[in-house]
Amino acid sequence: MGSRFFVETGFSVSDSDGVRFLSEFDRFGGVGAVGYPASRRFTWDGFTVQVFQRVIFQWRPESHSVAFVNVFDRLHEAGYDDWLASVRQTPPPGSFADAGLSWDAAAALRLRVLDRDPAIKHAYFDVVGDPIQANGLPVSDIVDFGNHVALRSQRVVFQRWKVGVPWARAGQVTVALGGDIAKEAGILPDRAALVPETAPSHSFAASIVIDPGHGGAESGAARDVPVLIEKDVTLDIARRLAVLLRGLGHRVTLTRTADAEVNVPALDRNGDRRIDVDDDLQARVDIANDADADLFVSLHSNGGPPALRGVATYYCADCTDSTRHRSLAVTVQSAAVEAVRPYGGGAFGAGVYDEAGLGKPYGHLFVIGPKTPRVARPNRAEAQALVEMLFVSNAADAALLARSDVRGSLAEALARAVEAYLSERR
Ligand SMILES: [Zn+2]
Repeated sequence: MGSRFFVETGFSVSDSDGVRFLSEFDRFGGVGAVGYPASRRFTWDGFTVQVFQRVIFQWRPESHSVAFVNVFDRLHEAGYDDWLASVRQTPPPGSFADAGLSWDAAAALRLRVLDRDPAIKHAYFDVVGDPIQANGLPVSDIVDFGNHVALRSQRVVFQRWKVGVPWARAGQVTVALGGDIAKEAGILPDRAALVPETAPSHSFAASIVIDPGHGGAESGAARDVPVLIEKDVTLDIARRLAVLLRGLGHRVTLTRTADAEVNVPALDRNGDRRIDVDDDLQARVDIANDADADLFVSLHSNGGPPALRGVATYYCADCTDSTRHRSLAVTVQSAAVEAVRPYGGGAFGAGVYDEAGLGKPYGHLFVIGPKTPRVARPNRAEAQALVEMLFVSNAADAALLARSDVRGSLAEALARAVEAYLSERR
């Protein structure tokens, strides 16, 4: 197949005319790495280019490969620094004493600016594929804008929010995407190329809360060969899923964005006069309720006897709105199974279950269950599901979970499941 159409944005990516954008798109890691296509092809400075949400592809015939346009360098050259500062609160480029240094030494010098902000540093390196390729090198200092601090790199801008804003929680790092900003700035020469081939498929944005299971001292299931810890798997897939859903225009909240507990500072959140794992779970539910979640999806990977494998999804049959919970769970389950099937994974006899069958304290899972003596404030999201994406404890499943392409496939499937649920609801 030489062409792929994306209903999400209304643009396609192809290998036509010897310009292998689709092959390169897949090689970089697909939507998770570069975002959805955001323009048709057009010519810019004599090169064939195409805008993606995160980057702009430029076809280099001499190397038969794609280079990324350094969007923020181009905006600087075009005199857009003031526009970026006022409209997008983007710092101006700083000066680095890297004249005469080798490329490696200059890159190391520029990356050192990240040490001043661990959260931004984490976001910089937390990308699908090579971080320098995805982001470009830092070109500014970390600058304080009052409600957030920002770092400009060649292709994207990182913003760490000091206070909660409608699109981010306090402490969260958001990424302003170069392709989208180049479109917004109006520097692209071919306006016609920005008109979608057909209209995007979705028409409203939902509040979606993704809960990467476990975190910090609470590791979840784990194994040594391959080294696999549930809390890391769930966070990685959650981040990929967040990129995809934000690209679709949804408001996405992660209950955690780092390897840490959610109950910080440690408080007795469910009022049982103890501080324990239940308070961490209550903190997750509280985040979903604060976000007015339409959808809540908790991500896990199972642990159990070594022979057990497969995907399973849970919902609460005793809860109000159980029909909607079940509908979401069914959609999530089939998408996750399809995501791993090309790699030899599957359901292996598992399916969609009422979570009451798990025999948790007071009969229910905490994050998607009803009010019980341990759940002070139950989850109010319209539809809720908890998916166990394969078994960390099974060798074959673990080999799949260790693979970046399988994780990417799971994230893309979960994004499709969310879209499918939302479109059926309308
Ligand atoms: Zn788990």
